[in-house]
Amino acid sequence: MKARLLALRERYETPAALAMDPLAIPLRFPDPMDREVAAFVAAHLAYGRVAPMLRAIEGVLAPLGEHPAAWLRDRGPAGALRGLEAALAGWKWRFHTGEDLAHWLAAWVRLDAESGAGLEAHLLPAGGETADGALSRLNRRLRGELPDTYGLRFNLPDPEAGSACKRWRMFLRWMVRTGWPDLGQWTRYPADQLVIPLDTHVARVARYIGLSARATPDGAMAAEITAALRRRNRVDPLGYDFALSHLGIMGDCPGVRSLPGCRPCPLVGICRAGRV
Ligand code: SF4
Repeated sequence: MKARLLALRERYETPAALAMDPLAIPLRFPDPMDREVAAFVAAHLAYGRVAPMLRAIEGVLAPLGEHPAAWLRDRGPAGALRGLEAALAGWKWRFHTGEDLAHWLAAWVRLDAESGAGLEAHLLPAGGETADGALSRLNRRLRGELPDTYGLRFNLPDPEAGSACKRWRMFLRWMVRTGWPDLGQWTRYPADQLVIPLDTHVARVARYIGLSARATPDGAMAAEITAALRRRNRVDPLGYDFALSHLGIMGDCPGVRSLPGCRPCPLVGICRAGRV
């Protein structure tokens, strides 16, 4: 299976696939703190159809200009909130309103002011905690501080209550993992506690090739798939995530193993699609 997964990576780790991934937007910024701000927005809006989702992310970041972190820090939490409420008044992406994103970025400004360097310090396990414990703690705090809207609740799942936390997992993969295409700029976060960002594509293909037998794409399934991938690559289990998700995102997986449609897929010899 490892050879087939490596072949899948070779097929999908391409500029064309990256152009259809929300990470392409943070990667445009040269400055690490600007990348963090762009990633904080992009990861949490990463749901729904790709093209309009990418436009929605661009729409939130446009008012912040070429240096989003400096724009936010110069204004402080209250000024950033006021400025973004006005700038994003007509913006909407499915569950999220412009008001939600103004509060989301104002929260980044508060957390950044406390740490002096963005969000990493807020997500580090402390006092015997796990990394999921730290994420759970931060999200509990933000649920108490942010308005109780559908969009913001959607951003703040609890990993300790069994949620897959796909968009937080994606943000963490981007910030921590050092291999292509990730940013790898958080060096203190425990990389060995990263969990795969479980989207519908990854869940489906993981079942087809026996990485999980679970039916529900929840936190337990994400942990099981991560553990299965770690057995194939102890150092970098999440290295397979981009390829597994883009097999689905690019529309290349019919969901039933059939020839000739599946012939180009490196997983065809081990896939049980249509039988699981
Ligand atoms: S259904 Fe086809 S394309 Fe999808 S994982 Fe299986 S072999 Fe690959």
